[in-house]
Amino acid sequence: MARIDELEKRYPTLPRDVIIKWDVFKHGVRDNKDIDEVSYWRPAGHGSYLSYDEDYTIERLKQETPWRFKEGYMLVPDMNIWMKSGLGFPLYRKENSPYTIRVTGTEGKFALYDGEEKVNVDLYRGPQTNFMPGLKTSKGTLAQELIMLWRRCYCIFPVRFCEYFTTGEECKFCNYNHTQEDARRSGLSRHVTINADETAEALKLYGSQLRLLEGQIESGGFAKSETEASVNVRFVDRLSNALPYRTHMKLIGEAMPRKELQRLRDSGLAGIRMAFETIDERLFPIINPGKTKHMSYQGWLEAVQDAVEIFGVGNVAAKTIGGVTMQGPEGYPTWQEARDSHVEGDRWMISHGVYPCMDSLRWAPGSPYSRDPGNRDKYPPSEFFLDCIAAHDKAMEEYGFYEKLNKFLYCGLDCQIRPYVGEVGIIKRAGDFGTWMGEVVPYEQNWMAQFLDSIKQKEMAKV
Ligand code: SF4
Repeated sequence: MARIDELEKRYPTLPRDVIIKWDVFKHGVRDNKDIDEVSYWRPAGHGSYLSYDEDYTIERLKQETPWRFKEGYMLVPDMNIWMKSGLGFPLYRKENSPYTIRVTGTEGKFALYDGEEKVNVDLYRGPQTNFMPGLKTSKGTLAQELIMLWRRCYCIFPVRFCEYFTTGEECKFCNYNHTQEDARRSGLSRHVTINADETAEALKLYGSQLRLLEGQIESGGFAKSETEASVNVRFVDRLSNALPYRTHMKLIGEAMPRKELQRLRDSGLAGIRMAFETIDERLFPIINPGKTKHMSYQGWLEAVQDAVEIFGVGNVAAKTIGGVTMQGPEGYPTWQEARDSHVEGDRWMISHGVYPCMDSLRWAPGSPYSRDPGNRDKYPPSEFFLDCIAAHDKAMEEYGFYEKLNKFLYCGLDCQIRPYVGEVGIIKRAGDFGTWMGEVVPYEQNWMAQFLDSIKQKEMAKV
């Protein structure tokens, strides 16, 4: 029996699409030519993670598959495959993964194989993002160098640099600064810092051609909260005023004092996701030395509660990485202990009005954890993720949290693909992500609802 079917039997309360997402997310996929059919040409500036193999750099990808590079663009699969529920999963390469993605012969439709066995699921390529490559600011900078666009949502990195690397206090799983050097070696130059006014101009250019819905601001760690808040306030302020309408804007950042959170709220920020990485008190300072110096573990907990008071319940999230607490000599020796710690942290967050989400650990080349080959055997099984997801859903129901969520905090259009964002409750309630977002996004802007409808129509036409 295929792995997915076995897991489905063992987790009868979890939707099958959630099991598929997480088993493929956890295992990655083997590289093949068919992946290119679901890939994007991404401009320089794309994020760091391509693979679960710790030596898989952009440089290596370029050497092995030169056709995936052209004039500052890289062909990246990452975020463009979806199931009929509108749930997607990222495609990270892994050399020994059981999974492959294959073309089916029907335009836009793909199959998932576990070894040579076809998994019972239809996969679809999403509509392509139009990067509008000719758009330039008055200073001549391409808009795409300043803003990363996903269909109707955008992401901005005001500073592509993390101060913790300079002191050797980077988070143990992270290679943020290294990835820039890696990209540069492959001819993909990036701006380390960008100008807020010029970025607002670029947003205006995009926003004049396309109704934008949601944006996120993300950067590396800052040693000083005041500096971090000042940079972010400037961006939130300029971007909030760039368009004749407001997009929902959220920040992915660190804990900061209450007055800095208030400044961000006052400048137009709608929500915040604090990057805890783990909520485990013992391991937090070991995994996050720079973040701990920035603010103590207790300080992070207080800050996230301050954020709930300032931004409101449903507008504050805590990001964690599933599997990170098993790494290193100090990590949990069993996945069950790691799971119990994770679930306890999730429950604390939910009971305090914070929405916890979970990403999956990857060995980013150049990160401290990737340098220790022993860590590769300490990766949790799918059961870890599925147990955490089931417990998350239980707590969300218990505290009535699905009803309190701002749906843009994890926009169901594109942001849901990478972390766990509560898809069990969302699929149970709405059936699919297009319907879930329908309440806050009109149909003409809801690309997901249109996309899922087009799949249904094509299939009905065949019958
Ligand atoms: S704060 Fe941590 S996770 Fe964020 S960029 Fe710096 S080292 Fe990486």
